[in-house]
Amino acid sequence: MMDFARRGVMLVIASPSGAGKSSISRQLFAQDPNIRLSVSITTRTRRTDEIDGTHYHFIDVPTFEKMRERGELLEWAEVHGNYYATPREKVEERLSAGKDILFDIDYQGTLQLYENCRDDMVTVFILPPSIAELRARLERRAQDSEGTIEKRLRNARKEMEHYSEYDYVLVNEDLEQSVQMVRSILASARLQRGRQTRLEGFVDELKAQIDALG
Ligand code: GDP
Ligand code: ADP
Ligand code: 5GP
Repeated sequence: MMDFARRGVMLVIASPSGAGKSSISRQLFAQDPNIRLSVSITTRTRRTDEIDGTHYHFIDVPTFEKMRERGELLEWAEVHGNYYATPREKVEERLSAGKDILFDIDYQGTLQLYENCRDDMVTVFILPPSIAELRARLERRAQDSEGTIEKRLRNARKEMEHYSEYDYVLVNEDLEQSVQMVRSILASARLQRGRQTRLEGFVDELKAQIDALG
């Protein structure tokens, strides 16, 4: 397929904790090198399988507050008692280079991004098939303490109420299928007319070819 110059997509994926955002994103990155994670900063402690600078930049609260005061954050939120934020730098750089960015951020962050970046954004909300399954996934992930899991389950109720603020909603039952669906959403977003920056020139060229037929 012909590939036109285009502006990058800001793909926002949200869900209650444990519904499968990270799993879906991981597979998406493995299958599509043009999309990368926006690496957030967070004040929460690192999980054993997380790499500083890859999954998050792990920082302390004073550093977070300094960055916020300096206006270095595109959005920020307090989730489960910790701070999370998207550093402004890099986002515009990637978008103008035609590269896509995936945002794994909560609804508070999504609303803030809408204010500044609506035209660049496509948002997806992921639901678990059931709460029993959500709990089972949080337990299987075995990365959070029992107390943390309970907190995340309670927070899921609040998080889920915001599904209606998203463009697309999907239930993550089968992981492969969910990844395919997110890939389809991304493929459509890339083709949106407003994102394609050289269409006019291309159509002019096609017209010139017709004119040349005589
Ligand atoms: P629990 O879920 O009932 O255990 O209560 P939490 O206090 O852990 O979380 C309830 C909500 O308050 C969540 O949305 C958290 O993100 C938020 N939250 C947690 N700690 C703080 C805090 O220190 N300050 C503020 N403003 N919000 C907090
Ligand atoms: P989130 O990033 O939304 O908090 P994760 O991607 O970490 O959630 O998923 C939580 C747990 O559920 C992980 O152990 C993951 O392997 C598992 N999981 C994710 N999607 C599915 C699925 N469709 N079917 C079964 N297990 C899943
Ligand atoms: P976790 O601790 O499970 O990695 O993430 C907890 C929550 O914080 C998730 O709902 C995730 O979407 C959200 N989150 C992660 N990074 C950011 C960020 O940069 N900004 C905002 N607003 N939320 C974030």
